[in-house]
Amino acid sequence: MSTIAAIATPSGVGALSVIRISGPKAHAVLQAATARKTPLPPRMATLVHVRAANGDVLDECMATCFASPASFTGEDVAELTCHGGMLVTQRVLERVFACGARPAEPGEFSRRAFENGKLDLTAAEAIMDIINAGSDLALRAAQSQLSGAIARPIQSAIDTLLNVAAHLEAYIDFPEEDISPQSMADMQTSLKGVEVELTRLCSTANAGRLLREGVSTVIIGAPNAGKSSLLNRLLGFNRAIVSPLPGTTRDTVEESITLGGILLRLRDTAGLRDSADPVEKAGVERTRQALRSADLLLEVQDSTMPLSELPELEGCENVPHLILLNKSDLPEHPSRQNQPGIRISALTGAGIPALHQALAEVFAAQSGEYDTAAAINSRHLHALRAALSSLQAALSGLEANSLPELVAVDLRAALDSLGSITGKVDTDDLLTRIFSTFCLGK
Ligand code: GDP
Repeated sequence: MSTIAAIATPSGVGALSVIRISGPKAHAVLQAATARKTPLPPRMATLVHVRAANGDVLDECMATCFASPASFTGEDVAELTCHGGMLVTQRVLERVFACGARPAEPGEFSRRAFENGKLDLTAAEAIMDIINAGSDLALRAAQSQLSGAIARPIQSAIDTLLNVAAHLEAYIDFPEEDISPQSMADMQTSLKGVEVELTRLCSTANAGRLLREGVSTVIIGAPNAGKSSLLNRLLGFNRAIVSPLPGTTRDTVEESITLGGILLRLRDTAGLRDSADPVEKAGVERTRQALRSADLLLEVQDSTMPLSELPELEGCENVPHLILLNKSDLPEHPSRQNQPGIRISALTGAGIPALHQALAEVFAAQSGEYDTAAAINSRHLHALRAALSSLQAALSGLEANSLPELVAVDLRAALDSLGSITGKVDTDDLLTRIFSTFCLGK
């Protein structure tokens, strides 16, 4: 196994940069680069000088060593915190390479952590989610994923399926015995329990998507209703720090804010009026596109104007829709006296706290899930659906008294799909289970 090194902090100038080294020679590389006669004590920050081959000091750094397996990667690890200039960091890194490490590939530290059993795949993904989190709730969900919010229920489903599979394998090995009614009932109960749990996990997919990608929020309303003013008002207070999502292209101007811990991706739209003008037509088409992928509609109305027909919003019937009666600083038009909606003034900021409250309520149902349970991503969802469909096939097989061999095939497929979520696909598990729970050694 090679020893790898990379700069772990962002490129650019900062107060400090961290260089990470991992692999069997990590401590030796550090010792060589710092020209020390003795190894560093583990888990203690020590002041060191990284030296060029001729002995010149390249930088004064803090070094920390971690001994395998008690490190992030499970290997021997050394971390060098040097001064944060780009040139000095590069020079220190080159010296580390010269002393026996090679450049790490992207994600290679986490990959080694996974391969050494320090992280399952959901935890590795959670690390990226923590880094990319754009809102408090997204961060909390990623942290709970890192601590096993997804891996735990998956593992417990795997354990149950393994037990059922082990029972079945016993019947396969001893075909002269029929599955007893009690065993059959137990197996069905177990599988149904797993089915309920996997279905519950699948149902968190939308919450997970909203957390990771943010709530696609489209602001609609007639010209001059105050859409841009509202956008500016919201941005003025709550502009979010967001990293661009990989793989998303956007042709409409989009801004992000966090409200009540939730990331909203706000899109101001061109309106929905039918028009012969090609430029306006293109704008309307973009609005329709935005509406098709909307998770939330904020409809701004000018409350000083007479109540008018709401625009047709095809495809958005199930999307939460908040009506904002804007310009509450001016006298309201009498026709709107009893109109339900949130009265706001984009100009003065009046009513904006009520808007926050309403948004929090809209997402309250999901935010319970954000707090405690898993917020699965699309990879997990795909695997969960595959597992569910194999599981359901196994259940129908049992109910129809199919050959245990056939039911076992479906169970194995379900196990493989679940195993792919955490990356722990292991047929040895099944063998171990069979041999430990059944004394077949006669
Ligand atoms: P948009 O066309 O819907 O984006 O509307 P704008 O945000 O451009 O606003 C249209 C006009 O209404 C501008 O002159 C704004 O200053 C004014 N306006 C927007 N919000 C308010 C408000 O809450 N109160 C008052 N008095 N004027 C507002």
